[in-house]
Amino acid sequence: MKVVVLVGGVGGARFLLGVKSALGLPLHGDAPEAAPHQITAVVNTGDDVQMHGLQICPDLDTCMYTLSGAIDEEKGWGRAAETWTVQEELAAYGVEPDWFGLGDRDIATHLVRTRMLRAGYPLSTVTEALSARWRPGVRLLPMSDDRVETHVVIDDPGAGEGGRRAVHFQEWWVRHRAAPTAHAIGPVGIDEATPAPGLLDAVKEADVVLFAPSNPVVSIGTILAVPGVREALRETTAPVIGVSPIIAGRPLRGMADACLSAIGVESTAEAVGRHYGSRAAEEGLLDGWLVHTGDESEVPGVTVRAVPLLMSSPEATSAMVQAAFDLAGVRA
Ligand code: GDP
Ligand code: CA
Repeated sequence: MKVVVLVGGVGGARFLLGVKSALGLPLHGDAPEAAPHQITAVVNTGDDVQMHGLQICPDLDTCMYTLSGAIDEEKGWGRAAETWTVQEELAAYGVEPDWFGLGDRDIATHLVRTRMLRAGYPLSTVTEALSARWRPGVRLLPMSDDRVETHVVIDDPGAGEGGRRAVHFQEWWVRHRAAPTAHAIGPVGIDEATPAPGLLDAVKEADVVLFAPSNPVVSIGTILAVPGVREALRETTAPVIGVSPIIAGRPLRGMADACLSAIGVESTAEAVGRHYGSRAAEEGLLDGWLVHTGDESEVPGVTVRAVPLLMSSPEATSAMVQAAFDLAGVRA
């Protein structure tokens, strides 16, 4: 079976563990040579950022480390058994930015990536090279090789009455914990971006396409904004099934509601399902929408099913994915 999954970082990576498990593949590391299944993860790169001259791809790294078992499970990002010497030394110099976590082990990944990018390799090739070490068992495909950065428009009290400024998504999310109201959120550079090589073909040839329960605005929404992706999703013969990141009117472990309100979408499973819309309608993308038990809702033109959606263990997540396969009418 060919499965394509649209993912962000922590929520997406955990969901991918469930996809592997539902297909009978080992949680961590490569699939056996003969495995009849192929998973392509299309990963958001709108969170990517340069710090201290390093190119950092948070969502790609979270997926790569999670799927290989190298992730810091508690934090959900970064490397297990991490040390922070470089960060402490940077702090001693007083250089900015000082609010973004950069572990020593993680920095090695950023160094290799940055060096390859500077040598002219596209991000998709760099990701493949990094994956040769980590063996995520999933084809990790950045949404695009082109630089796209999500920015957020917030108030700027320093700029006088009604003044506003745009900051990088990471500055708003990590530094300010999404506290300042986001008046607008958008991926800068998206109009000139093209889908990574192989992305559109993967969607076209898929047996099923899944939207992980990732942030609908800054993870899934950014991938969907890459020119050509929406059209490919609408045209594929594969069923497209979304999984809600909103449970009982709230995002889990996160601040996704701050992003949803910026685009005028309520933080409910129903509103997010309607935001993605039905493939049977003029602009929508979904055939099926999985919501959490108790969040039964109506999305015109979309088959909605309620099942437990807490990714509390790989087994629980595997059952979620199985429910998505059932809704799609495919079986592993
Ligand atoms: P990020 O890039 O690290 O922010 O991660 P993602 O965008 O991939 O995922 C973040 C989203 O995952 C949040 O909006 C959460 O609501 C959602 N999420 C986290 N844990 C769970 C869970 O156990 N179940 C569901 N359904 N969603 C979850
Ligand atoms: Ca992210």
